[in-house]
Amino acid sequence: MNEAHQILLQEMGYTLWQLRQPQVTGDMPEQECRETVVLESPVVPVAVAQPVPEVPAPVAPAVVPAGAAEPAAMPPGTDARAARIARMDWDELARAVQECRACELCKQRQQAVLGVGDRQADWLFVGEGPGAEEDARGEPFVGQAGKLLDAMLAAIGLRRGENVYIANAVKCRPEGNRTPHADEMAACRPFLMRQVELLQPRIMVLLGKAAVHSVLGEDKSLASMRQKLFRAGEVPVLVTYHPAYLLRNLPEKAKAWEDLCLARRQMQGRPGN
Ligand code: SF4
Repeated sequence: MNEAHQILLQEMGYTLWQLRQPQVTGDMPEQECRETVVLESPVVPVAVAQPVPEVPAPVAPAVVPAGAAEPAAMPPGTDARAARIARMDWDELARAVQECRACELCKQRQQAVLGVGDRQADWLFVGEGPGAEEDARGEPFVGQAGKLLDAMLAAIGLRRGENVYIANAVKCRPEGNRTPHADEMAACRPFLMRQVELLQPRIMVLLGKAAVHSVLGEDKSLASMRQKLFRAGEVPVLVTYHPAYLLRNLPEKAKAWEDLCLARRQMQGRPGN
């Protein structure tokens, strides 16, 4: 395990222990054996004998169909608006998002935040909505949660902007970082769906309940939805915790790590990867 991996695993909430076996004497040559043990969390003494942070043994996730197609009642005129958005290219989409006043969230934004990253990306990560820093800088996930997301990406060999695109369920900042309302997510959903169509990612990872609600139309607990494979059209979808939640609930980082491993396995198990 190299130093970078160790730092990343520690950032993800893993504690690394170096165990040294007793030296062997007698006829056998003297030797030193080192084994790296990865603990799920600093306080849970569950040892997994993995010399490197390998993906756990593959377990095929159940494929679960997405929930309701539309998570909230759509206001009049939505179909025509959604149809217009569905024909936009990237530049038109970026302009439309900046000019959009389709929901209350437009009132307190400094700017709408479309998303960031590689527009040919295989990986799409979807969060909730911009916070204060994102609203000011026009980029999703740039605060503490963004740092953790970057560490999570690095832990599975990914990097922001390289084969990765990051978007949010709503493009404008909810006041006080509250959870976006269902009607706000519904109003913004055509933008997200158009991003998915333009990107055609090979996998989508939903970070937190708002993203799950927006994309899958589900309001179940994340605990019941993670480690399962969903689909949004042709795109495989996996669910995990939002980095901001993980910052407040450190032991859950180990579960997020499992979810990212599942996402990586899903990608590795597909032809052409
Ligand atoms: S959150 Fe989405 S739907 Fe609402 S104003 Fe912003 S861009 Fe428009």
